[in-house]
Amino acid sequence: MTYSRFTALEQIAARNSHFNEVLDVPGKRISEFYGQNVFNEQTIKKYLTRDLYEELSNTIHGGEELDQSQLRIIANAMKKWAMDKGATHYAHWFQPLTGKTAEKHDSFFTLDSNDNPIEEFSVNALTQQEPDGSSFPGGGLRSTFEARGYTAWDPTSPAFILEVGMGKTLCIPTIFVTYSGDSMDYKLPLLKSASFLENAAKEVCQYFDPNITSVKTTLGWEQEYFLVDEATFFARPDLILCGRTLVGKYAAKGQQLDDHYFGSIPERVYKYMRDLENECHKLGIPVRTRHNEVGPGQYELAPMYEEVNVAVDHNQLLMDLMDRVARKHKLRVLLHEKPFEGVNGSGKHNNWSMSTNTGKNLLSPGKKPGRNLRFLTFFVSTIRAVWEHADLLRASVASAGNDHRLGANEAPPAIVSVFIGSTLKKVLDNIENDIEADEKGVQTVLNLLKKVPNLELDNTDRNRTSPFAFTGNKFEVRMVGSTRNCAAPMTVLNTIVGNQLNKFRQAVDGAVEEGKDRDSAILQEIKKYIRESRPILFEGDGYSDEWKEEARKRGLNDLESTPDALPVYTRPSTVSLFEENNILTERELNAHQEVMLENYSLNLQIESRALGEMIYNQILPAALKYQTAVADNYKSLTKMGIDGEQLTAQRDILERLNNCIQKVAREVKDMTEKRRSANRIDDPKLRAEAYCREVKPLLNSIRICSDRLEYLIDDKEWPLAKYRELMFIK
Ligand code: ADP
Ligand code: MG
Repeated sequence: MTYSRFTALEQIAARNSHFNEVLDVPGKRISEFYGQNVFNEQTIKKYLTRDLYEELSNTIHGGEELDQSQLRIIANAMKKWAMDKGATHYAHWFQPLTGKTAEKHDSFFTLDSNDNPIEEFSVNALTQQEPDGSSFPGGGLRSTFEARGYTAWDPTSPAFILEVGMGKTLCIPTIFVTYSGDSMDYKLPLLKSASFLENAAKEVCQYFDPNITSVKTTLGWEQEYFLVDEATFFARPDLILCGRTLVGKYAAKGQQLDDHYFGSIPERVYKYMRDLENECHKLGIPVRTRHNEVGPGQYELAPMYEEVNVAVDHNQLLMDLMDRVARKHKLRVLLHEKPFEGVNGSGKHNNWSMSTNTGKNLLSPGKKPGRNLRFLTFFVSTIRAVWEHADLLRASVASAGNDHRLGANEAPPAIVSVFIGSTLKKVLDNIENDIEADEKGVQTVLNLLKKVPNLELDNTDRNRTSPFAFTGNKFEVRMVGSTRNCAAPMTVLNTIVGNQLNKFRQAVDGAVEEGKDRDSAILQEIKKYIRESRPILFEGDGYSDEWKEEARKRGLNDLESTPDALPVYTRPSTVSLFEENNILTERELNAHQEVMLENYSLNLQIESRALGEMIYNQILPAALKYQTAVADNYKSLTKMGIDGEQLTAQRDILERLNNCIQKVAREVKDMTEKRRSANRIDDPKLRAEAYCREVKPLLNSIRICSDRLEYLIDDKEWPLAKYRELMFIK
């Protein structure tokens, strides 16, 4: 049975009573249960001797190795803790290139050599597993004879217990690699890039403060999402299959009144948020901020920032929790980048910075940026890196879903530019224009910079159209799609900035060796970077057509679609960047690119199939039925002798209906043929292009026809939940 739109509406109306009794949170303070399901440092301390705890801590923080006997003790401690908490199973938890998380559960329970039942968790079970990974995408990394994938423990991200219903599972964060060690996940490259950036940044920090011995990359994501009632969700095959509406006329009201943004949170949604936040807090995900977003039915959740590796895991875990908790509340969470036409899509802003063991944020300008050569170094190096590798950053967030945001007249544009705000812009202008890089010049610039007003002022002046913006003491990557694993863009950012810092240090050291004063050498390099990266700095409206034109003149690329963007991954400059710095090999880059291209084609394939079915199974039958009713009406009235002049409205409706019916049927046929011929193409890149250029435009024009039909047809006959019902009924 198709879930009818009208049953759905009745169900929603009957929900209120249900929600009053459902789910409220124990009246505990968050600090009382925060992290209770995490094998974090405090818990580990309770379960390990002090020595062993310190050894483990060194491994986590310093990359030292543990021996077998130490590992045995840790595995036992972990097992004891998990079983004390009621866990019966354990799972290696990993992040394959599908973008989701994966886990395979094994029971602690086993039989010993005398067939006695025992609970066991061996060193191997902790450190290495071989899930049957053959159906995870590997982009050709595995030929069939070595189709094995291995997961290996990542001790830098703490193990946790996932509660699903009554079941509890100990989850161990792991990386996922092939038999020969190629990465098949987002984690391994991320870990490598974070440690690469750490080393590069540490060295540069030595110029400014010898006490800096460690630099961690920090990430604070902001996750946007939509919520819809489960009943209307079920009345939309496109939401069920694709996570977005493929048809649907705009509601008479959308977001134009801006009355949803930061508005009061509806009670039902509020309950969902509280429940979700509790689940997050039990798992040590430090979520703090919640608010309505611009789109009706759109919301945002943000945590406190954490070290990038843990933050990425937490975001992946969050997306999983969001879905599970929503189901409990008879809601569905839509993480898709563009669930609805005509209202804002969802992104995942990645706030990124670096922080030192001495407690300094390397991107914090402080009150006197003029004396802050360290800040300027990291700030300008990041800009320079983004200028050089803008296309790569763009490619790292490319997906079928995100194509509906980037380059589709929505925040932010596909052209990468950097927004820094007027105060810092002035600082950079001054450095570049006014000062020669001689001794005297250095002094002048340093003096000049002292006069720059307090930078806090800049925080209010935020340009929401910028894809990459400096917001006070961090850069914010706004191009990331709401479903995307943050690891991909973070890996790119870490790598390009690390690479830039290494070059910076070589240049400065070189100049110092030639006898130059160090501060002047630093300033000279900064000045050079400002000059070079000028084209990427843009403070204006990123949506305007003038910017497109201007960007082209500046030599910035506008990679509008995923098939345009992904080839950047295998450009020679990308390959050498990643290979030289030992983050990803060419083989891995090829494989990652292939998986993403394949993902793109599959997405469009599913959308196109789902749309075809909806047109033939739901929309055309409704249209034909209504058309018959109007035709019958016309016939009866004519029979009664009513003059044709008096039947203009009927004729008009019939004609418009018929035009749409013919057009939509023709286009679905056309789309099916185009899809079939795209499927026959073997090369993943060419196939993705065919989907992009041939199939996708038809998805759009079919939608236009269908939306016209929705407008024309009797409301009682329309089978799919309408936009106003999806977005405005709470
Ligand atoms: P807005 O929506 O205005 O950008 P929010 O307060 O919603 O601001 O988000 C700020 C985000 O930036 C939070 O997720 C926060 O954790 C993160 N953040 C703040 N400081 C840093 C930092 N030093 N490094 C990384 N992320 C940071
Ligand atoms: Mg933000």
